[in-house]
Amino acid sequence: MKQQTVNFCDLSLAEEIEERIWSKARALISRNGFILDQEVEGFENEFSAFCEASHCVGVATGCDALLWAMEGLGIGKGDEVITVANTFIGSVLPILRTGATPVLVDCDPATQQIDPIQVKAAITPRTSAILAVHLYGRLAPMEELREIAEKNGLALLEDAAQAHGARYRGKRAGGIGHASGFSFYPAKNLGAWGDGGALVTSDDNLAHKVKRIRNYGQKEKYVHFEKGWNSRLDSIQAIVLREKLKLIDEWNERRREAANLYYEQLKDVSVTTFPGDDQDEPVHHLFVVLVPERDKVQQSLQKQEIQTGIHYPVPIHKHECFENESFAAGKNFPHAEKQGTELLSLPMHPNLSPEHVGYVAESLKNALS
Ligand SMILES: *Cc1c(COP(=O)(O)O)cnc(C)c1O
Repeated sequence: MKQQTVNFCDLSLAEEIEERIWSKARALISRNGFILDQEVEGFENEFSAFCEASHCVGVATGCDALLWAMEGLGIGKGDEVITVANTFIGSVLPILRTGATPVLVDCDPATQQIDPIQVKAAITPRTSAILAVHLYGRLAPMEELREIAEKNGLALLEDAAQAHGARYRGKRAGGIGHASGFSFYPAKNLGAWGDGGALVTSDDNLAHKVKRIRNYGQKEKYVHFEKGWNSRLDSIQAIVLREKLKLIDEWNERRREAANLYYEQLKDVSVTTFPGDDQDEPVHHLFVVLVPERDKVQQSLQKQEIQTGIHYPVPIHKHECFENESFAAGKNFPHAEKQGTELLSLPMHPNLSPEHVGYVAESLKNALS
C-alpha cells in the first residue's frame, strides 16, 4: 500500500471559517481595533468559560503567560520552582526570567508525566511553586500534586500549552491549579495565525494584576502602577482564536478517535504506547510512542512519506545554554534522557483519517520487522 504523504500536522481550515475570520478582520481594521479590541475581551470571556475558570488574560505568548503567572504571584529571586526535565524549554525559561531557580525532576516512565513522588522529595524551604506540565495533551497527575502543594503551602501552576480542553476525572486543564499558562502558537490544539498566549486563573487579584502587567503596568492611560511590560494578545489573533474555539471540542474528539485507532492497531507492534486510564480525556497534542532503534525507524517512515517528530530530543538539563547552571549541569534524569533516543511522535491532527492511521501502523510494523 502506497499513498500520499501523511502530514505530521494539518492547520487547514474550512473555507467558510477562513472567510468569517477575514470579514471580522476587515471590520476590525476599519475601526482601528488593532490593540486590545473588544475581540480580545470576547475571546477572554469565552476561553475562561471553556477552561471552567473565572478569568483569562490574553498575552503575547505562552512563555509570557507562565512568566506573568509567576511574577504576579511574587515568585522571584530566592524562590525555587519544581518542574519536569522532559518538556519544551518554554516551561523553564520563564522560571529563570523571574529570577527564581528551576528544580527539575524526572518523569514517571509509565505515563511520561511529572512524577509526584520525586516532586515531594525535591521540596526545600525555598520551594514556592510546582509547575506541572500537561505533556502531549494529557493532564499531569494533578490530584497528587495538589495534595503535595496544599500540604506544603506551595502554588500549583499549570503549563497547559499542549492541553486545551483536556480533562482528568472531569476537571479541565487550566482550571485546576492556582494559575495556568496557555500557548496559541499555530501548531497547538488551539492555534492562532501567529503567536499568542493566555493566563487562566480563578484568582481575581492575580488576573487584575496580569491585566496591568501585560499593558505597561497601566491602571489607566499613562497611570503606571507597577513596572509592567508590553505583552498583549493581538486583536486580529483574537478573531482567529474565537472562530477556532467554536470547533476545538470537535477537533479534540477527532484526535481521540485517531489515537484510539493507533492504540488498537499498534497492539501487536513492538512499540510502547501510553493509553492512560478510563478517567482520562486527553487531547493528544502529540501522539508519542517509544521504539527501539528510533532513528532507523524514523528514516524508514520518512521513505514511506510519513512525517514524524521527536518531542523532545534534548531534555532540559542537557541544553547547551544551561551548561553553567547548577540546576542542570551534571544532573541525571534517566527517563527524560531515554526519550531523546527512543521517543517518536507519529502524525496527529484532526484530519488524520483511519486510512492514514492504518498506513502508519503498517509501515511501523514493517520498519520493525
Ligand atoms: C509551546 C509551549 C510553550 C511555549 O509557548 P509559546 O507560545 O511558544 O511561548 C511552553 N510550554 C510548552 C509545554 C509548550 O508546548
